Amino acid sequence: RARVFSGVKPTGNLTLGNYLGALRRWAEVDQHRADALFCVVDLHALTVDHDPGRVRRLSRQAATLLLAAGLDPELCTVFVQSHVDEHARLSYLLECVATDGEMRRMIQYKEKAPRERARGGSVRLSLLTYPVLMAADILAYGTDEVPVGEDQTQHVELSRDVAVRFNQRYGHTFVVPRATAPAVAARVMNLQDPASKMGKSDDSGPGIVYLLDEPEVVRKKVMRAVTDSGQDVVYDREGRPGIANLLEILAACEGGDPEELSRGYDSYGALKKDTAEAVVEVLRPLQARHRELCADPSYVDGVLREGARRAREMARPRVDAAYRAIGLLPA
Ligand code: ATP
Ligand code: MG
Repeated sequence: RARVFSGVKPTGNLTLGNYLGALRRWAEVDQHRADALFCVVDLHALTVDHDPGRVRRLSRQAATLLLAAGLDPELCTVFVQSHVDEHARLSYLLECVATDGEMRRMIQYKEKAPRERARGGSVRLSLLTYPVLMAADILAYGTDEVPVGEDQTQHVELSRDVAVRFNQRYGHTFVVPRATAPAVAARVMNLQDPASKMGKSDDSGPGIVYLLDEPEVVRKKVMRAVTDSGQDVVYDREGRPGIANLLEILAACEGGDPEELSRGYDSYGALKKDTAEAVVEVLRPLQARHRELCADPSYVDGVLREGARRAREMARPRVDAAYRAIGLLPA
């Protein structure tokens, strides 16, 4: 069985983008066919200006939402990154393999660094080195596949490069992973700004559908989505990004193909209405399960404790091997 690893950062409330790009596949596909680990990557939430209490709250909420989305601790391992020391231990070794040039070329760094400067004045060093910690997350587990949205493929590429370089220099230690993206909705766009990705830590609330939004809120956000000039419904990501985004969301929620779906609509209004209802229906069971889980926090704690124990066991031997391979004296 393939080893699968993926994660989500507790930097904000989880969005429809997170669900369609990542979580849903983890629950519906990956946990059933692979030996899978899913992680709330809390160390990554410290790379930007943060409130400690909020990160703690969001970490628990993210873990609860992973379970609400259908991850089953009998089938996969669900845990919190900071509970397993191996991630930070390996990250340092990989900092000795990756280069500063590689870090500065990362699109996400180039996008997030100016935003941090605008918000608070300075950029944390960890924002620059974040992809190395992510490489450690992935490589520690001998991961074959990393199911992520399109925005994360560059970071997974970096993990590949680092794995190959480490193996060449110090002997075969790491499996070389690859990213897998969903066929549709690999990059869900902001409903108010279809040129930018829907991201949970973005400021523009009305363009972002959160997984815990009430049905009425979801409907309002989708109905008010910015659409393109023109009237006929065609699937054209370049020319009609707003409509293409709605078609992809609808296709992802209902199953189907955005291009084919477009032929069934002759007005933007009808498309928006169906898309809103499709999203509401996808979120309904998740929200119900989330409510149940919130009533039983000790269950979630237990899952995370057991998950961390299993993850530690899986990561430890490979990280120890990397320590020996790179030239550190065994303790
Ligand atoms: P942040 O704004 O803090 O970076 P985010 O919404 O991008 O938050 P991440 O925790 O960085 O969320 O990513 C979690 C997973 O969700 C990743 O696999 C990422 O590729 C995926 N993802 C994030 N946003 C989208 C999106 N708009 N469409 C599809 N997938 C997405
Ligand atoms: Mg992100």
